[in-house]
Amino acid sequence: MIDHLGRGIDYLRISVTDKCNMRCIYCMPEEGVPFRPHDEMLRIEEIARFVRIAARCGIRKVRLTGGEPLVKKGIVDLVRDIAQTPGIEDVSLTTNGILLPQMAGDLKEAGLNRVNISMDTLDPDQFHYVTRRGHIDDVFRAIDASLAVGFDPVKINAVAVRSLHQDFYGFAKLSIDRPLHVRFIEYMPVGESSGGSGAGWTEEDTIPAEEIRAIINERAAEEGHAPLQAVGKDGGPAGSGPAVYYTFPGAQGTVGFISAMSNHFCASCNRLRLTADGKIRPCLFSDLEVDVRSALRNNSDDDAVIAIIGEAIGIKPKEHDNSGAGTVRRMSQIGG
Ligand code: SAM
Ligand code: SF4
Repeated sequence: MIDHLGRGIDYLRISVTDKCNMRCIYCMPEEGVPFRPHDEMLRIEEIARFVRIAARCGIRKVRLTGGEPLVKKGIVDLVRDIAQTPGIEDVSLTTNGILLPQMAGDLKEAGLNRVNISMDTLDPDQFHYVTRRGHIDDVFRAIDASLAVGFDPVKINAVAVRSLHQDFYGFAKLSIDRPLHVRFIEYMPVGESSGGSGAGWTEEDTIPAEEIRAIINERAAEEGHAPLQAVGKDGGPAGSGPAVYYTFPGAQGTVGFISAMSNHFCASCNRLRLTADGKIRPCLFSDLEVDVRSALRNNSDDDAVIAIIGEAIGIKPKEHDNSGAGTVRRMSQIGG
């Protein structure tokens, strides 16, 4: 599937629910997402049908996200269904990890290949502050469970926020003794972020990836350790996407940087997004959306859905700007 600017589109990110068992200050309001009638949300069978049709159009990789995907009833069955869909080569999941210890085995058995676990700080009190309710030990248990069942790779995603003063070097060191791939994500102005959900995005809070890497190398030097070394284009873990990877000499894992703000990767963007309420969203940073829920629901034939997918890739923006204008929908609604 090629969009109107010649970009190959083979990657679909699906927000399976906008609900979550946490309330991260930059992502959700304290009281959770505003109530929406249940029938506005795509059902598991509708999502599975969309994936089957999207695979016919050329989608090869699917990531399930949210909100928190593991709170969606039927998520294990959805993983199984997608993993068995002809054409789909890879199914992955982005999760806060809270429910992962008890679900990792079933998810692996259902065909999930790999996980990204989000954790923004290593400090237990700060973790509770950022998530407004989480306990960091649960995330460490999720990491252990993921390695134990054999997800590969296991990635740790940390959003870098200047005012949080995170221990980047401490995070990076998680990649040394175990095959963990720690990725730092630049804080992005998504979802009325300039105030709507708590801490609120500000330009100063976004730390460019290069600065994070310099901080890590400085701390490494202070401790007498070698700096991060570039691993080259093919040296990163599977499903690298736009991240650029480095490693400490002799480490089992890697350290990656996702610089959506300081260094656009729009020219090679291969993604479409499906929101929990059935809109195809061609760009995270743009509120352009095309409704596909009615077509999935009203017994329309597959060709109607294919036409809507075509319409969505036809309006995929060339690139996003860094103005900080934000988007109307929050990350938890779009699927981060
Ligand atoms: N609940 C799951 C989780 O936390 O991994 C999946 C959904 S969450 C929206 C996906 C990712 O988006 C998380 O790593 C989260 O930290 C990140 N995220 C949310 N808001 C963001 C923002 N404004 N800028 C950058 N990343 C953000
Ligand atoms: Fe929930 Fe993930 Fe958003 Fe945190 S970042 S509130 S865990 S959806």
